[in-house]
Order: sequence, then C-alpha cells, then structure tokens
Amino acid sequence: MNDLILNLAAALWPPRCACCDHPLSPRAPQATLPAQLQPRFCAACLTLIEPREGPRCLTCHAAQRGPLHRCGRCLVDPPAFERAYGLFDYAGPIGEALRRGKYGRDPSLIALVGLHMGAWLPAELWRDPPSVLLPAPLHPRRLAQRGYAPPRVLAEAVGRALGRPVRCGRLLRVRHTPPQAGLRAGQRRENVRGAFEARGPLPDDALIIDDVLTTGETARAMSKALRRAGVGRVRVLAAAGVD
Ligand SMILES: [Zn+2]
Ligand SMILES: [Zn+2]
Repeated sequence: MNDLILNLAAALWPPRCACCDHPLSPRAPQATLPAQLQPRFCAACLTLIEPREGPRCLTCHAAQRGPLHRCGRCLVDPPAFERAYGLFDYAGPIGEALRRGKYGRDPSLIALVGLHMGAWLPAELWRDPPSVLLPAPLHPRRLAQRGYAPPRVLAEAVGRALGRPVRCGRLLRVRHTPPQAGLRAGQRRENVRGAFEARGPLPDDALIIDDVLTTGETARAMSKALRRAGVGRVRVLAAAGVD
C-alpha cells in the first residue's frame, strides 16, 4: 500500500532537479537511500559541477591574471589563513542549490552541496587534512531567521568525507552584521571587523567551512580571530566562490 502511494506520488509530483527544476527520472534502486543522498541534479546540471579552474591565487583563490602565484592583496596584506578555497562556481548549479537551500530553508539542499564538496575536495586536504572542522558561525539573530546553520550542515558532510570531527561553538560570531552582499570591498572589511571570537579548547590545525567565498573579508576576519586565540594553522573551504 505504501509503495502504491509512493509510486503514485512520484508519478504525480516527480522529483525535480535542485538547480533547473527539470523532472528527474525515477531511480528505483536508490529509493532506499536517505533523501539527501539521492541524486538531486539532472544529468545536464551534474556535468556542470566541477571545481573552479583557471589560474588562481594560491592563498585566497581569487582569479589571477599575470605570472604571479599570489594576488596583489595577499602579497601586500597576507591573510591569517594559509589557504582558502571557493570550490564551485557560485553562478553554477551548486550556487543555485545553495541559494535555494538558504533562502528556501531547505537543509537537504545544503546537505546535497556538502556531499558534492566531499566528492571534490582539493587534493591538499586529503594529503594533509586538518585536525578539526569549524563551521563559519552565524549570529544567533541570523540563525533564528534562517532556522538552521548552513555552514554547519556543510561541515558535517565534509567532516564525514574527510574523517575529521566538526566542532561547533569554538568560533563564534559576537556581533550581528548586515549581509556582506551588496557592500563594497572597504565596507565589507569594516562590516566584519571584530565580529568573531574564538573560545577553547581550540585545535592546532583548523579548517573553517563556509558557504560562499567572495572577497574573502569574512574568511580573513574569522581566521584572524582563531590565530589570535592561538590556533597554529587555519585553512578555509567554502562551497562556492565568486569571481
Ligand atoms: Zn538540472
Ligand atoms: Zn590572494
């Protein structure tokens, strides 16, 4: 009876691609998997999911023109993180799933993005994994708005892939700030100044997990708070990057 209802529901409301809404073909053997593990992108969108390419700054992952391995900003004003990654293109299917998950309050879409992060982790993180993962913190007011913390969902998925624990409550957002989107570079820096604090016990080698890496000001501020509290090494992995 249950199967009949499920089949009828699947026929009436076929599952749709998490990016473009194209109906997904039913895949019976995978019906036993948890919902978040089932394929949620159509074949066309799946082919677009791959890490961002092209010459990039070896520190902050910004697109890089010219012969240098680091961008001007990182050379002149090195960040407190050793390296940051904006893994996928925010303009692609992963970015769309992130937006839908965040603004549509659908943690299963964020978990889906986390699975793709785990599948495409930068080789460096496999070779030389961090001791713990720290989700980028949301201010309690933002957490109440969203209903859940997307970076924490991403961190859980990446932590499972990497076999490393996730620690919450070590990196905190102590000041509520307007969203970085829509602010200019200087305003972004000012906006997150003093917004983060670290509380022990802290690891020696941490990987911060965030959803989007744009100018890197938030990543810089979070890393600075950790380093100031005594964390020896900080890297940052965001699901998506914006050029
Ligand atoms: Zn699609
Ligand atoms: Zn850079």
